[in-house]
Amino acid sequence: MAVVSGATLITPTLLSSVKLKTKLTNDKPLRIALCGLGKYAKILAEALASTHNCKLMGLITGTPEKEVSWGEKYNIPSKNIYNYKNFDTIKDNKDIDLVYVVLPNSMHKEFTIRAANSGKHVIVEKPMALNAPDCLEMIAACKKNKVQLAVGYRLHFDPYYHEMKRLASTDELGPVRYIDSGFGYRIKGWAKDAWHLKKELSGGGPLPNIGIYCIQNNRYILGEEPKYVTAQFGPIQRPEYFKEVEESITWQLEFPGGAITNSASSYSYNVNKIYASGDKGFIELDPAHNYAPLKGKSSQGIMNFPLINQQSEQMDGIAEYILRDEALPTHITGEEGYKDMVVIDAIYKSAKTGRKVEIKRA
Ligand code: NAD
Repeated sequence: MAVVSGATLITPTLLSSVKLKTKLTNDKPLRIALCGLGKYAKILAEALASTHNCKLMGLITGTPEKEVSWGEKYNIPSKNIYNYKNFDTIKDNKDIDLVYVVLPNSMHKEFTIRAANSGKHVIVEKPMALNAPDCLEMIAACKKNKVQLAVGYRLHFDPYYHEMKRLASTDELGPVRYIDSGFGYRIKGWAKDAWHLKKELSGGGPLPNIGIYCIQNNRYILGEEPKYVTAQFGPIQRPEYFKEVEESITWQLEFPGGAITNSASSYSYNVNKIYASGDKGFIELDPAHNYAPLKGKSSQGIMNFPLINQQSEQMDGIAEYILRDEALPTHITGEEGYKDMVVIDAIYKSAKTGRKVEIKRA
């Protein structure tokens, strides 16, 4: 085992849970159509080029110029390019297996349900929807149509996250009693009418956009669902941006096993970390929520895992299950997105009322 600055270096060989990419023996790829061609779809399109199990085969866009520019750039035949009106005819297209919904949050539900009704599997970006009841409708539509539904939780495919989960699931850390996590950045130069700042389109401010990662990692580390939440809105310091959504928010979750978590999310201050404390040790990731590379250490030593493309790993990982006609592991399904939205709904209720709120799932 290598040693760096007096600390143990955790090497990839110790990481039993990291799945390295394997070329499937079945060489039929999962054929993906990207729905919504904005900034993140661009990242996904580039990542698709380095996947082993997936192929970009279709596009859905509301912008006619993108039909041409994206179609030419990614060599997509015009019969595989749709707009929001003719999208449902995708059901007759045998070239497309899965629709990846990368639209503003308010459009996730509609396009997930339309894709499911067209017989296509779905990956929907986070946050899964605007609220928990909408998530249930999306899950039901996918079940009814016998298609799989995943949420784009890229961090579940990152080796630092695998190691965090491995440590938290073994006796090496002891029971985790406390987690401190935050994800925030100071927005600059955003258009005042950006969809992220409009409640109807986003569902809220930093909480559903980036705070959701803290809820995710708390639940993932502890392997339990929180029972109670107490939450506080931060001050509005830049009213020109924050007419409809919160600028900052903090919250505390209580878990049935006794663990407490404290989290913060903001468009006003920078924070990007997870610190989990167990009886026998700790885990610390900082940065914790970026696209790779993350950085981390634990009471076992400094983590040092290979640089990966989270988006390629995520899409390849999901494809492996779908191509084998196996059910996706529950931690990346729509049920996971639903559980996060239940917590988000409860956080807002608590921040608005100033009371502790019981978190209830259907
Ligand atoms: P974006 O604004 O760059 O792109 C949104 C796309 O939707 C654009 O192509 C736009 O033309 C289209 N659109 C259709 N109707 C619209 C409307 N009424 N208002 C605005 N745009 C409209 O957004 P993005 O950053 O690509 O985010 C898209 C989704 O991806 C969001 O749900 C976001 O949370 C998610 N996302 C996830 C990650 C991640 O790391 N998993 C990172 C970034 C974004």
